[in-house]
Amino acid sequence: MADEKENLVTVTSPLLPDLGQFSELLEDIWQRKMLTNNGHYHRQLETALADYLKVPYLSLFTNGTLPLMTALQTLGLRRGEVITTPFSFVATTHSIIWNGLTPVFVDVDPVSGNIDPAAAEAAVTTATVAIMPVHVYGTPCDTAALETLAAKHGLKIIYDAAHAFGVEVNGRSVLESGDMSTLSFHATKVYNTVEGGALICRSAGMKQRTDCLRNFGFIGEASVEEVGLNSKMDEIRAAYGLLNLKRVDAAIAARRAVADAYRAALKDVPGIRFLEDIPGVRHNYSYFPVFVDEKEYGMSRDGLFEKMQRHHVLARRYFYPLIPDFRCYRDTPAAKAAHVPVARRLADSVLCLPIYHDLKEEDIARVVACVVR
Ligand SMILES: *Cc1c(COP(=O)(O)O)cnc(C)c1O
Repeated sequence: MADEKENLVTVTSPLLPDLGQFSELLEDIWQRKMLTNNGHYHRQLETALADYLKVPYLSLFTNGTLPLMTALQTLGLRRGEVITTPFSFVATTHSIIWNGLTPVFVDVDPVSGNIDPAAAEAAVTTATVAIMPVHVYGTPCDTAALETLAAKHGLKIIYDAAHAFGVEVNGRSVLESGDMSTLSFHATKVYNTVEGGALICRSAGMKQRTDCLRNFGFIGEASVEEVGLNSKMDEIRAAYGLLNLKRVDAAIAARRAVADAYRAALKDVPGIRFLEDIPGVRHNYSYFPVFVDEKEYGMSRDGLFEKMQRHHVLARRYFYPLIPDFRCYRDTPAAKAAHVPVARRLADSVLCLPIYHDLKEEDIARVVACVVR
């Protein structure tokens, strides 16, 4: 089809604020002449996000990787092992390494792709100091089991909640779980500030420490107590973020409609599995992964991926490869010790279909036409 070629269906499309309103805020920033360092819009966005997300303490960051790195530092974890998942974005493991800690990869649940609490428990040693799970695709982890495990062995839990913006379980934010949670506001996420992120803290003291670490470790003007980083968000992106927050509920509702359309169209396709909504959970529809059973479907995941590309429909193998399979980790003891067959199967079978607020009906139909056989 000629028009298929001209109209590429992309994997994602960023949520953008109203341009007129954004120019007004830019004019205001020009007037104020304060561009960063906890300015007017930065303070407003921290309050507005804490409100929206129903969490008491939130610190803004300049991306979603730095809060992961800083969380370990805020909690004072300097040596030891951190139990984590191989089925995530590479930043999760990077943050452990940057802190001089040792990642220990354990297997995941075959349905959700989230860390398997039993596998995590089996990996606890005297050197274990923390667990770093991920709410993969925004599906909440088994937080109750993980918290029981952490309490029993005196471990900290830092949730990588990069996919879980606005996700709630029985009316409570999933970000309330564990010792700390981190968010990413990257352009490809449900809610974005172009680049950005946040660290959710349990107490005012933890937020104070986090805010100090995010600004080189400065306390006051002339005292540096710790080796912090510069990971502050600036005024321009904070203003952008304030405007995008007004649009995020409508964006999530539109994503839900896309997910519903995919589920209705794909429910009887043999060899294609997708995630269902969980009762009591407010989902954010951040991704729409399908898992391809090659035998039953009659085509491999990569076969489908390439077929879609030929039809100018982009999908994403997310997460693939597994983190321990990346060149930078492949030869490390942690990667060699990883026995993670379930994660491997998911990584080899997953394909995330296009899902975003402004995905058109005819494009949904084109995606479906590629998958239905
Ligand atoms: C996006 C993402 C990150 C990193 O966020 P950035 O804002 O890109 O630094 C970390 N973990 C997961 C699971 C992610 O999807």
